[in-house]
Amino acid sequence: MDEYDEKATLAVPIVYQGEVLGMLDVGESRWNRRYTEDEVRLLTAIANQAASAIHNARTFEESRQRATELVTLLEVSETLSSSNDVDEMLAVLCEKLRIALGVFSAEAYVYDKAAGTILMVASSDLEPIDLGDWDGSYLVSDVPMIARAIGDMQTVAAQVDDPDLPEVSRQDMLRWGERSSLSVPMIHGGGVVGLVYLSETRERHVFGARDTRLATAIAAQGAVAVENARAYSLIARQAITDGLTGLYNHGHLQERLEQEVARAKRHGTNLSVIMLDIDDFKQFNDTYGHPQGDKLLKEIAQVLLTSTRLNVDLVARYGGEEFCILLPNTPPQIALGDEPTDDNVRTGQSAAIVAERIRATVAADRFEGYPSRREAAVTVSIGIASLPASADTGDDLVANADKALYLAKREGKNQVRPYGA
Ligand code: GH3
Ligand code: MG
Ligand code: MG
Repeated sequence: MDEYDEKATLAVPIVYQGEVLGMLDVGESRWNRRYTEDEVRLLTAIANQAASAIHNARTFEESRQRATELVTLLEVSETLSSSNDVDEMLAVLCEKLRIALGVFSAEAYVYDKAAGTILMVASSDLEPIDLGDWDGSYLVSDVPMIARAIGDMQTVAAQVDDPDLPEVSRQDMLRWGERSSLSVPMIHGGGVVGLVYLSETRERHVFGARDTRLATAIAAQGAVAVENARAYSLIARQAITDGLTGLYNHGHLQERLEQEVARAKRHGTNLSVIMLDIDDFKQFNDTYGHPQGDKLLKEIAQVLLTSTRLNVDLVARYGGEEFCILLPNTPPQIALGDEPTDDNVRTGQSAAIVAERIRATVAADRFEGYPSRREAAVTVSIGIASLPASADTGDDLVANADKALYLAKREGKNQVRPYGA
């Protein structure tokens, strides 16, 4: 009291429902005085008013924050239900989260459990960040804080100045100029499907319980989006795949045939079609049984895949024991003096050469697992048609390759027959 030159003082606690929120203090420095009971009562009444005011302000601030959180969550979930593009959804998610938490950068990664990697698929930064030659992926075991977030399925906060931070993590944060970070796993169905990474470069940022709560809620929404996208791509793949052989199915072949015909016409290139049918397959089934017949179909499918160009030629199961291959940019046969308009003319590749390679491979193969390998020798017959040489439409191509195949059968099977030759 001497120090502050006080002669009399009265202190009243500001109490709200049994909890002390503060203190109200009045002092007199001019003369020594006694506070009356009325004055004490008055000050107490004022303190009670203050207590209500402080409580209300806190409640209001809390509900304002809650409201902001709810709006953010709502906005994110609206985006997630209005778009089918998972990258776009995650980009919006990053932006909302970055703004809601007031940080510099938010990144969304998908997690590949089998490979043990995470890959950045979306981000939102206050200012553009130069990623240099970084490819956006991490081996999870190389990033301890992220590994912990994924392993423990828990949000993990890191500060670059934390003495307990693993050295690799510090180096990583320094590399990107980060002072604080938050790794939030995206959890769905009891497993981690991805991760949201928030970081602050401008100053030290302490992530509070509210930040974690909001980030976790939003990350859970992102997890649903990632999982839906995965399920969708699986279903989309199944819809174009033949269940037995794993080749493309008839429907997808028809779709691609039209596209390839249009493309070949536009670019003035050759498009060849190979139709293949197993010789005497009915007899094979009768001899070894249908399950063995199914196995043979799968083995032949593998021969077709290894005999053609990955991601260029399209191998499909046309139906039953018939297969069809589309060979873009490929002439039926290579004749001396052919104009080198196609890549395959330059490389000496033609549909006839591919077909003959398939025929010879199948004829030479002794398919595994049959009672007598010698007996189980199998042959195939093949017909070829090409655009523009022997067809003008997709339907013509298939029909003419089929006619050529019919001739190959009639002339003794185990042979390749180009249409019109
Ligand atoms: P060809 O040399 O003239 O082609 O004689 P083929 O016996 O191969 O021809 P056919 O059309 O008479 O018989 C085809 C057989 O293919 C009949 C059918 O049982 C069999 N098949 C069709 N689809 C499947 C399948 O998915 N699995 C099995 N195991 N057999 C199939
Ligand atoms: Mg047949
Ligand atoms: Mg057959």
